[in-house]
Amino acid sequence: MRRTVSAGGLVLPALGQGGWNVGDDPARAADETAALRRGLALGMNLIDTAEMYGGGRSETRIGAALRGVPRANYLLVSKVLPQNAARPALFESCDDSLRRLQTDYLDLYLLHWRGDIPLEETVDGLEALVKAGKIRRWGVSNFDTPDMEELWRVPGGARCAANQVLYHLGSRGIEYDLLPWLRAHGVAAMAYCPLAQAGRLRGVHGDLLASQTLRDVADRYGVGVMPLLLAFVLRQPHVMAIPKASRPAHVEENAKALTLAVSDEDWAALDQDFWPPTAKMHLDIE
Ligand code: NAP
Repeated sequence: MRRTVSAGGLVLPALGQGGWNVGDDPARAADETAALRRGLALGMNLIDTAEMYGGGRSETRIGAALRGVPRANYLLVSKVLPQNAARPALFESCDDSLRRLQTDYLDLYLLHWRGDIPLEETVDGLEALVKAGKIRRWGVSNFDTPDMEELWRVPGGARCAANQVLYHLGSRGIEYDLLPWLRAHGVAAMAYCPLAQAGRLRGVHGDLLASQTLRDVADRYGVGVMPLLLAFVLRQPHVMAIPKASRPAHVEENAKALTLAVSDEDWAALDQDFWPPTAKMHLDIE
């Protein structure tokens, strides 16, 4: 299994860790810290968060959890809200994220989704943050193919390193046009909700975890369905996944995806239940 994805000069691990809801419950702090640190030890050394998550609580918890770990041992990704995506608010948001995360740079800073601020202003501000040394690279999130095409027409827009989008076995629309576009333009895809939120998201096929095929294939490799769902995402070139797991046992199970070698026959069996797209579909966001 591929272990890394390149993103505009950055080398990202194929498997990172999500940060949504992290920090929401003070009683879960010890478990969340242990899970994040276990993930680092297992090579899942990219952590995704956003100023939006818990109004900064996720960044604060992650910053505290990583205190004392050498900064070079992990990558941090955070996201700016669309209404803050131009100077001066962009710089203030970035500084706030750095302070909460207890660091002096982000590896990647993403526009969380498109808002009303012209892309030109956002790109200009993000490039200025790179020059100021506050972020190494920037990217976007929830951008569909037409958004990416528009971004490419903006001065400096082609320096976008990554696009973070929803992608899991039950929601494969991006395979039709967005993933090929991103690959052709050297933009890394970061798959969010790769576990379909442990089956809570429905996608177009209904209840993912009710699939007997999914369970049978996972059984054949001696794993649960979660590592199989992650292996499905990582099977695509240039795609990495950021599953969120706030329990060390879940992190350990998810890391098994990195050593799974699923046969072509088994992938074909899953295609029968969860067919790939045959036409353009709107970008899924939940
Ligand atoms: P997800 O990663 O698909 O699923 C998370 C859920 O799966 C949690 O409830 C977690 O429970 C559970 N889980 C993890 N490993 C498990 C295992 N081995 N067995 C059973 N359950 C397991 O969904 P997500 O958190 O929504 O998405 C991942 C990350 O993507 C987020 O955390 C966030 O960083 C990012 N994201 C970005 C956007 C965007 O707009 N850019 C949108 C949504 C998410 P426990 O916590 O109890 O382990």
